[in-house]
Order: sequence, then structure tokens, then C-alpha cells
Amino acid sequence: MTWSEHPHRRWNPLIKEWVLVSPQRTRRPWQGQMERSSSVVPKVYDPDCYLCPGNTRARGVRNPNYASTFVFENDFAALQPGTPEGSLDEGGLLVAQNEKGVCRVVCFSPDHSLTISQMTLSDLTTVIATWATQYQELSALPFISSVLIFENRGEMMGASNPHPHCQIWATERLPNEVLKEQLAQSEYLNTHGSCLLCDYLKIEMDCRERFICDNRTFVALVPFWAVWPFEILVAPKAHIADLDQLGEREQRDLADILKRVTARGDNLFETLFPYTMGFHQRPADQVSRPEWHLHAHFYPPLLRSATIRKFMVGFELLAMPQRDITAEAAAARLRDMSESHYLGRG
Ligand SMILES: [Zn+2]
Ligand SMILES: [Zn+2]
Ligand SMILES: [Zn+2]
Repeated sequence: MTWSEHPHRRWNPLIKEWVLVSPQRTRRPWQGQMERSSSVVPKVYDPDCYLCPGNTRARGVRNPNYASTFVFENDFAALQPGTPEGSLDEGGLLVAQNEKGVCRVVCFSPDHSLTISQMTLSDLTTVIATWATQYQELSALPFISSVLIFENRGEMMGASNPHPHCQIWATERLPNEVLKEQLAQSEYLNTHGSCLLCDYLKIEMDCRERFICDNRTFVALVPFWAVWPFEILVAPKAHIADLDQLGEREQRDLADILKRVTARGDNLFETLFPYTMGFHQRPADQVSRPEWHLHAHFYPPLLRSATIRKFMVGFELLAMPQRDITAEAAAARLRDMSESHYLGRG
């Protein structure tokens, strides 16, 4: 059995699920969809962008002439704080619960043309400080138990607007992915007496086969159980539970690693790296959660070029996720990439 050649499955201990790895398939020809590579260089200010400073959003609200980060309640929020109580349970088959929440948008910068990879370290550190404040503020709401900060980048991931921004969805209960990680991490702590991600990162720092880059506080790697071709996990080396626990220096280190990882992504296929990125961290339910280790997942859809993406269809929708290129081969590619931006900015 050669792991780099033969089909096998790998265990994801964070969500307790398997992924199928088929490294022998990377040589198959591709005749499927080619995505358009977006080569248009965006402008610094777009009069039609609802996120640019001074512009009017849906429902007639005008954005202030903000100079740094800008946070506002989502005009089309999926969740609302005032949702009335209610529940349904018909024999365990028709089950529903009311769900309260808050949805916000965070603009990273007034500059419409930027991406994380192109922002200055100090501006990106301000974004991270804003995330920490938002996590703190939303966690303090009595009806919130999960604060999810995430960014959809690029048309390929369904991002409707290139203006650098992210969303925050704070929910009354833990959403599925967070709940899976909650259960897995707490079970691991009970069984082993140590933190799952602390133990996992120790293995990765020793073997370095899936390592991409690091700094004093954070490491970036392709996880052993990655599903997306160039999936990346960013986590603090020490046991830190949430964004609120990062001091000024750690916030700057997080900005540094995010900037470097996304620059490598840009250089990989010489395009603005599309991805969904988001933070998993200690739930906001005021309970002590020693099992939680802060981390960010990057799920980039690109497979072989700026125009060839991975689809989650067929076997993956009906059975389990599957990947062709191994996590080790993907990490080696990302490790080789330059950290200077390919458009010469940042
Ligand atoms: Zn804009
Ligand atoms: Zn830990
Ligand atoms: Zn996670």
C-alpha cells in the first residue's frame, strides 16, 4: 500500500467523518466545465457597489464615508433577534425549532479593489481586532450561542460583490459543523485528557509533510483529512480558544499568516484565490469549553488551474467526500509558492 498512489480513506477526527482519497485519478483527462478566469482589475471605488463608502445600500441606507473597517446589520438578514418562540415535534419526524440570530457584514477596507492578500499588515490587523470585538459583543447577547465569522471570496464561491468584506452569522444554537466539532473535541478531551488540535498540530509540526508556513503564533497546513484540493487549516500553535483571547501581537500574527496564505493561493493558479474561509472557535454560550481550539478553514474550489474547479456532486453528495490529489502533494505545491502578490501589490 502506497498512500501517494493507491485509493484509501482518511479519518477527519474534528467532525468524525471519512474522506475518500484517489491519488491515481489525477492523470485523468478533463472535458468538463472551464470557469472564466476573472482577469479584470477591479477599481478602488465603484459607484454601483453597495459596500463602498458613501454609497446607498438596498432600502435607502447610505454608508458613511468610512476610512477603516465598517460593520452594519445585514439588510437581508437570514436570522433576526426578535423571532418568536416556537417548536414542533410530530413523532420525531416533523421537528422544527424557532431560531434567533443576528447577521452582520464587515467591510475590511474602503478600497473596493483589495483582497486579504493585498491589504497591509496593519490594516488587516484592524480587521482582526474588529472580528474580536464583534465576537465579544455578539457572544454577550443572552440568546446567542455561536458566532460564525466567514468570508466568501470570488464569483466561483458565489460572492456577489468583490468589495473586501465578510459576514457574521450569530445563532441561538450551534450549527451542524460547529456542533460536530464540539462533540468530537469534547469526546477527545474526555478520552485523552488533552486537546484534539493541540495533539494534532504537534504531529504536523514534527513531520512537516503537510506544513505550508508559520510564524510565532500560527501555523498553516493542508490537513491530513482535507476534502477540497487545496484546503488549508490555520490554527494557533498554543491552546487558544477564541479570537477574543488574542493579544495585540497575536492579532498581528494572525493577520500575517492570513495574508501569506492567501498570497500563496493567488500565486498557485495566478488568479485571485477564490475560497470560503471561516473561523471555528469556542461557542458563545458562557459555558467553560476547555476542548475548543480556535482555527480557520479555507475551502478553495480550484483544482488544476484558474478555470478548473472541483465539484461536490455524485458520490460526494450521495456517499462521502472524495479527493484526487493527496493532502501531501497539495501542501508541497503551496509550500513552493511565493508570498509576494502576483499582481505586484501588497
Ligand atoms: Zn465597493
Ligand atoms: Zn488546543
Ligand atoms: Zn473547524
